Amino acid sequence: MIGVLALQGGVIEHVRMLERCGKKAIEVRAKDDLKKVNALILPGGESTTLFKLMKRQGLDTEIKKRAKKGMPVFGTCAGMIVLAKEIIDNREQGLGLIDISVKRNDYGRQVDSFEEEIDVRDIGKVNAVFIRAPIVKSCGKDVEVLARQNKNPILLKQNNILVASFHPELTDDKRVHELFLKMNSII
Ligand code: GLN
Repeated sequence: MIGVLALQGGVIEHVRMLERCGKKAIEVRAKDDLKKVNALILPGGESTTLFKLMKRQGLDTEIKKRAKKGMPVFGTCAGMIVLAKEIIDNREQGLGLIDISVKRNDYGRQVDSFEEEIDVRDIGKVNAVFIRAPIVKSCGKDVEVLARQNKNPILLKQNNILVASFHPELTDDKRVHELFLKMNSII
C-alpha cells in the first residue's frame, strides 16, 4: 500500500495519480497510518507548515526511521524541501534523507510559476509545472540527477528517495509516478 502524507498541500492529486497507475493509496495523517504503507509520497504545499504538523504527530522521526530502513519516499516541491539535508537560509532543517542543499522559493513568487518541457532520463520529454519551487544548489556524489531545468537539477534520486522540485501530479502524465513505483520495484 502506498501512502500520501495528508497533513497539508496537494494530497488528492497524488492519490488520483497513483490510482491511475493502478495503485491503491491511503492518506497518512498519523503514525498508525504510516504502519499500513510500504511507500510514501510527500506532496507540495508549504514546508514550514508540513514540518509543524509532522512534528505534532511525531511523523517526522517516524518517516525518517522508516526511510532509513529502506521505505521508498517521493517528495515533490515542499516535499522535496522536507527530505533535504540542508535548507539554505532557513530556520528549520530537513529530515536529511537526501544529500541535497535547497533554497526555498528560489524560482520566484507565485506569479513566476511556469510550465516547461524538460528531458527526464529514461523517460524523455515531460511537461513540468513549477510553483514557488525550490532550487537545488548542490548535491552529494551519491545523488543521481535525472532531469535539469536551466542547468538546475529538478529530479533527483538517492537510493530509495526520489525528489522533484516540480509537480508531476498536476499533469495527466503518469510517467514520473511510474518511475517512482518502478524504481522501488513496487510494480
Ligand atoms: N514555496 C513552498 C515552500 O517553501 C513550496 C511550494 C510548493 O510546494 N509548490 O515550502
